[in-house]
Amino acid sequence: MYEITTKNPFVDLHCHLQFDNFAEDRDSVIGEMKKNNVIGINVGVDEKSSRAGIVLAQENKGVLWSTIGLHPLYPEGVFDMENLLKDEKFNSSISGIGECGLDYFRITGDNLNEPDLDKVKDFQKEIFISQIKMSITYDLPLMLHVRDSYRETLEILKENFKSDVKEYRGNVHFFAGTIDEAQEFLNLGFSISFTGVITFVESYADLVRFVPIERMFAETDSPYVAPKSFRGQKNNPNHVREIYKKIAEIKEIDINDVIDIFYNNAKKHWIK
Ligand SMILES: [Zn+2]
Repeated sequence: MYEITTKNPFVDLHCHLQFDNFAEDRDSVIGEMKKNNVIGINVGVDEKSSRAGIVLAQENKGVLWSTIGLHPLYPEGVFDMENLLKDEKFNSSISGIGECGLDYFRITGDNLNEPDLDKVKDFQKEIFISQIKMSITYDLPLMLHVRDSYRETLEILKENFKSDVKEYRGNVHFFAGTIDEAQEFLNLGFSISFTGVITFVESYADLVRFVPIERMFAETDSPYVAPKSFRGQKNNPNHVREIYKKIAEIKEIDINDVIDIFYNNAKKHWIK
């Protein structure tokens, strides 16, 4: 066991408490978060979840924040994101753009009524670039979703880098690339976040050791990927503590230092 002495909160950098999966127990999960000193960022994947995330953030100030975005696997849901960014009722509760990026893992074409893979990839690229541009225009960090496409994503990011912007602001969610790829994202200004997978897959240890703690986050991706002690169950942001514990173990640092550093990391870009 470990003793928590710091007053700073645990940060779950990427969760989806606004999803219907939490219709029954959302209030009790948020109540638990307050008790456990856990705060979180609700990540949008389409218009419905982006709007719902904003509402939740507004109802739970200081506990929840939100991003608005269009996930690469939901291109049929293209919506006017700028509308939300310009709306004074909403924009103060929006702390980032995404999740956005490329996902070559699950595109078969079938689910998109589009048998032409190249077309699907082009469209993913198009909606990704539009979100990169928005993040630069509105000076908001990007929440990247990248699967089986790290090289292609890095190319797009480099191509769309503006000379007047010193570096990107953003995070690569659920990182599962190589150490070299991690280094390239770090060079562009991104942080890297790890999920509960690191609690049951040993092969992440080198990566966790490699990424500087000042450029790292923990995330649950709730309701998905519960950590070891809760495997098979619906995940929720309270379980982020188990990921902190694992990171502290791998990096051989006191968990209270991990809490303090991740909270500072979050304050730099995500939490106003
Ligand atoms: Zn997600």
